[in-house]
Amino acid sequence: MAIVHRLLRSAAAAAFSPAAAAARRGLSALAAEQTLERNVQWVFLGCPGVGKGTYASRLSQLVGVPHIATGDLVREELASSGPLSQQLAEIVNQGKLVSDEIIMDLLSKRLERGETKGESGFILDGFPRTVGQAEILEGVTEIDLVVNLKLREDVLLEKCLGRRTCSQCGGNFNIASINVDEGNGKPGMYMPPLLPPANCMSKLITRADDTEEVVKKRLHIYNELSRPVEEFYRKRGKLLEFDLPGGIPESWPKLLQALNIEDHEDKQCAVA
Ligand code: ADP
Repeated sequence: MAIVHRLLRSAAAAAFSPAAAAARRGLSALAAEQTLERNVQWVFLGCPGVGKGTYASRLSQLVGVPHIATGDLVREELASSGPLSQQLAEIVNQGKLVSDEIIMDLLSKRLERGETKGESGFILDGFPRTVGQAEILEGVTEIDLVVNLKLREDVLLEKCLGRRTCSQCGGNFNIASINVDEGNGKPGMYMPPLLPPANCMSKLITRADDTEEVVKKRLHIYNELSRPVEEFYRKRGKLLEFDLPGGIPESWPKLLQALNIEDHEDKQCAVA
């Protein structure tokens, strides 16, 4: 796939160089048009803990494209005990961003593996995370739609601290029970915990970077380096803003509605 080679070239280049809002209906129509020609190429943006992984992964199953999360690629590399793992552990555990060069290399390899399996299209989660990365991506392929998930900041920390993964099946859960009263002009919010089944209970692990100190650092870095990526796509008329109204049962149907996607009972999907 040409995109992979172009991404690889950009990755090398990244080592040396610094790296109008459209109406919802317009964006959905654009997304629908694109799917007629090829599989969707979407991006999910949002602060740590907002639920990018949860919603991107559900949508990818519905739309039939791979969900590619650069955070997962980084954690896989970290766990592999390869030459980069020590360096990555130090960066990630301090809540800092990995260099564009390393991220482009991990992403290119992931796309290449997908290509050999016949994958096409993608939902990217956690990439691009800087304007430099967004520029590299724009130079190599067309992004159809960028979904910006938003949640009140006081809830994000609690959600990150409640995240758990089953070390055996890899399932992601959240033990936080969020119940914020209405106040200061903000509506109340209820997000029930997403509890694991009984057989995962004793195998739950917490990400090393989901401590209070590191999450606060990541939120700070998001505001500084990733927030401008929203503006990058807003100016190009590709940003779909989505305020999460609550937990998955409440938010999922509303997200599908915003995207003009139908979730039939038989799990067939149609982008209307
Ligand atoms: P979050 O919950 O903060 O969205 P992720 O799982 O997406 O976490 O990413 C975990 C870590 O992996 C980040 O804190 C960062 O160190 C690294 N990382 C992931 N994606 C990128 C990227 N696009 N650019 C630089 N670093 C990244």
